[in-house]
Amino acid sequence: MLTRLKDALDHIAAAIIKQRDLLDRLDSIGDSDHGTNMARGFTAAVEALDALEDLSTKTVFTVVGTAFSENIGGASGPLYATGFLRVAALCDDNTAFNVKNVEKLLGAAIDGIKKRGHSDAGEKTLLDVLIPVYECFTPEKAGDKTLYKCIEAAVKAAKDGLDYTKTIPATKGRASYIGERSVGHEDPGAMSSLIMVRELFNFLK
Ligand code: ADP
Ligand code: MG
Ligand code: MG
Repeated sequence: MLTRLKDALDHIAAAIIKQRDLLDRLDSIGDSDHGTNMARGFTAAVEALDALEDLSTKTVFTVVGTAFSENIGGASGPLYATGFLRVAALCDDNTAFNVKNVEKLLGAAIDGIKKRGHSDAGEKTLLDVLIPVYECFTPEKAGDKTLYKCIEAAVKAAKDGLDYTKTIPATKGRASYIGERSVGHEDPGAMSSLIMVRELFNFLK
């Protein structure tokens, strides 16, 4: 797959850990711990990856998913864990990092998150970033664009998705407790998803 998958994840982990306070602050519409949760998950993931000898794609995604599921108490832990583990389940040593596979793998991750969260687009969650990002890799939108160009488009789609979360009330997760009062605020999970997509792009460029 991505020859430097572990390096890419290390880069993304460092970016999330750096944005811990921002993510905690955005989660004032919930319980102000999203950055703390994500930093804990990524710290555990990096530690586990450092200890690995087998850096095959499947193992790397399995280890990250397991670190998220075992180290995060909040909703985001099992949700992101499901996403990573769904990807792992479909990967093998021959899984190339290309547009078609990103569509397939991200599609499976989103499918798992929707089922696990009983959620869908338009509920002010990380899905409002991940679904538009996924669409950038579908044949309709990707056309004959290169993988790099698709990821560039995905960063723009992620930003638009984050902006969209500002305009709608939360109907899932802790922010749903404040309902309409969540309008006007960005969703913290949408922001952590944007950071991951953006930092993948920054790692590749
Ligand atoms: P908790 O809300 O348990 O404290 P976090 O603060 O780490 O967990 O994560 C909150 C984020 O998780 C939200 O901003 C939202 O994006 C996402 N989220 C919460 N519930 C759901 C759900 N049912 N489906 C999809 N995403 C959700
Ligand atoms: Mg929270
Ligand atoms: Mg919490």
